Amino acid sequence: MQSNPYSISRSQALFAAASQVIPGGVNSPVRAFKSVGGSPVFIKKAEGAYMWDEDGNRYIDYINSWGPTIVGHAHPEVIKAICDAAANGLTFGAPTARETELAQKLTKALPGMDMVRLVSSGTEACMAALRVARGFTKRTKIIKFDGCYHGHADMLLVKAGSGVATLGLSGSPGVPDDAAQHTLTVQFNDLVGVEEVFRTWRNEIAAVILEPIIGNAGFIRPEKGFLKGLRDLCSAHGAVLIFDEVMTGFRAHWGGVQILEGIRPDMTVLGKVIGGGLPLAAYGGRRDIMEMVAPAGPVYQAGTLSGNPLATAAGLKTLEIMSRPGFFEGLRQKTSRLISGLTERAAAAKIPFIADYEGGMFGLFFCRGPVRSYAEAKGCDAERFGTFFRGMLERGIYLAPSAFEAGFVSAAHTDADIDATLSAAEVEFRKMKS
Ligand code: PMP
Repeated sequence: MQSNPYSISRSQALFAAASQVIPGGVNSPVRAFKSVGGSPVFIKKAEGAYMWDEDGNRYIDYINSWGPTIVGHAHPEVIKAICDAAANGLTFGAPTARETELAQKLTKALPGMDMVRLVSSGTEACMAALRVARGFTKRTKIIKFDGCYHGHADMLLVKAGSGVATLGLSGSPGVPDDAAQHTLTVQFNDLVGVEEVFRTWRNEIAAVILEPIIGNAGFIRPEKGFLKGLRDLCSAHGAVLIFDEVMTGFRAHWGGVQILEGIRPDMTVLGKVIGGGLPLAAYGGRRDIMEMVAPAGPVYQAGTLSGNPLATAAGLKTLEIMSRPGFFEGLRQKTSRLISGLTERAAAAKIPFIADYEGGMFGLFFCRGPVRSYAEAKGCDAERFGTFFRGMLERGIYLAPSAFEAGFVSAAHTDADIDATLSAAEVEFRKMKS
């Protein structure tokens, strides 16, 4: 599969050049391979389940651009939809029919979403959803969970304090403590902790925001009753429950985890898959809440490229391909085969290892588990993950370059791709000492 011996000299030269003019050489931090070691590979092209780097190495891609390319890279129908749209102009700054079409599709897929606003990134969508929730409730404080990522807005870049009900601390230089102080952080799956925060800050909590399955701290499921407990607490206290399904939406399940788990949030944030690989995200929810958004209501939010005609074309075509019979079942089967195969091989090599998946999204940890929170995820062996990551990369398997990120399978992955991945993993597991 690889040109032998494995070399990434051109990527290394490109990284050196990039580092002179782009901070850290990359336009989003995790791409720099800092937590796994080594030098990032520069991608030249991608098609189906594969990516090729600038040195000509081919990789089976399990990042899928961090989620969006669920139908496979450069799917001919998606490319045609984008080209057809482009031929009619790239952006108008005026409404288009496709925006309504996409909004209709999303509101149909998510029963709790009566109205939706299209934006350009998940960061923007989460930031706006929280502004709307605060405007609607006329309250200030928000609850988030340690390890959930909701983009890089100031109020969301907070460090978890020790214990529950602690005020957020700035999680990055440049974020004033003032911006973080209204964010209360709790461990995922700690319903008692959330109850305590509600008791402490009675009538001050505007919203609870979470990834209903965490994909930004590995892959962490909600325990039985956790989502329902949050739903009940939010209803009892008049707080807005926001599911950030930027990663899980149309990825873990058609619609999202809320459909799978049968929980209706008040608001939902979407991104990644719904833009089919182009910059598009959305936030939506109950009509009475969304009617707060300008120009229908007083809460301001706007965007020059929002609902971009190329992005809506890519998103609609992607969703259409996904609605074809058997799409999700096929995707689920591939991911299941990958995860059970990895688990068996790690067990055979006596490596402490756990892995889980839902739909086309998965995660793996080098530890015995269970992992129910970011605190527990941090107890797993991230160094061993780095070794595994680098070994797999050299064998042509591109996993997420972080022990705390989910992986993604696309419809383009074949059984042969999964088998090749499992064979590579078997060799890497055997090399490790348990
Ligand atoms: N929410 C979640 C759950 C995400 O996974 C991400 C991005 N990984 C975001 C929000 C932010 O989205 P974006 O990178 O498009 O700003």
